[in-house]
Amino acid sequence: MKLLVPVKRVIDYNVKPRIKSDGSGVDLANVKMSMNPFDEIAVEEAIRLREKGAATEIVAVSIGPAKAQETLRTALAMGADRAILVETDAEVEPLAVAKILAKIAEEEQPGMVILGKQAIDDDSNQTGQMLAALLGWAQGTFASKVEVDGEQVSVTREVDGGLETVKLKLPAIVTTDLRLNEPRYASLPNIMKAKSKPLAQKSPDDYGVDVAPRLTTTNVREPSKREAGIKVASVDELIDRLKTMGVVG
Ligand code: AMP
Repeated sequence: MKLLVPVKRVIDYNVKPRIKSDGSGVDLANVKMSMNPFDEIAVEEAIRLREKGAATEIVAVSIGPAKAQETLRTALAMGADRAILVETDAEVEPLAVAKILAKIAEEEQPGMVILGKQAIDDDSNQTGQMLAALLGWAQGTFASKVEVDGEQVSVTREVDGGLETVKLKLPAIVTTDLRLNEPRYASLPNIMKAKSKPLAQKSPDDYGVDVAPRLTTTNVREPSKREAGIKVASVDELIDRLKTMGVVG
């Protein structure tokens, strides 16, 4: 079984985002970029499935600028077999990404597409679900456990108040949650080896997908600063304070 793993190049999760002075978005000039953390978990899960013998080939895909090649090389260094870069400088929204991934899935015929549950830059949590709808495939979102069993995959999902296990008929879409696994670091020899693994270069036009944005960002601003708290000596004082603040009547 072939696995398709979409990986997005996003602002590194350790970086504190700076807002552009005109409020039009996050300033990405000279900012460290990395693979979306949930996508690292997806790559790791794909590798584990191959190690268990449930998968034979892992294809990483990224839609983004030329620099997204670095993200794909990271996936290859972790263990993916080959990569596809769909190059565009446009800001690609989840629907356009899902449409491109659907075309690639039709071409590649994977048994599963394993995506992150959300990209930490747009926090959309949409692409996997849209892709499942476009392909008409089953979906198991927010996976904390994935077990392939013949023509089916069991996905344990993190839902409010507990865990739910669903059985999906393959081919299927799986999106990863934080507790699914701990991604490996790429070793130096594997980073070197990744440089010679195949990386195909495509464009959205090759798939006939219009990536023009459908949303307009009207304003981006920092969360308001938290005001300093106060300490109260007793419950009575707490209630008094809450009353004067108008929180309780
Ligand atoms: P989102 O719906 O934007 O929160 O993204 C969910 C998941 O879709 C990500 O974790 C990636 O696996 C995948 N994805 C989103 N955008 C891209 C992209 N430009 N290239 C590759 N994968 C993407």
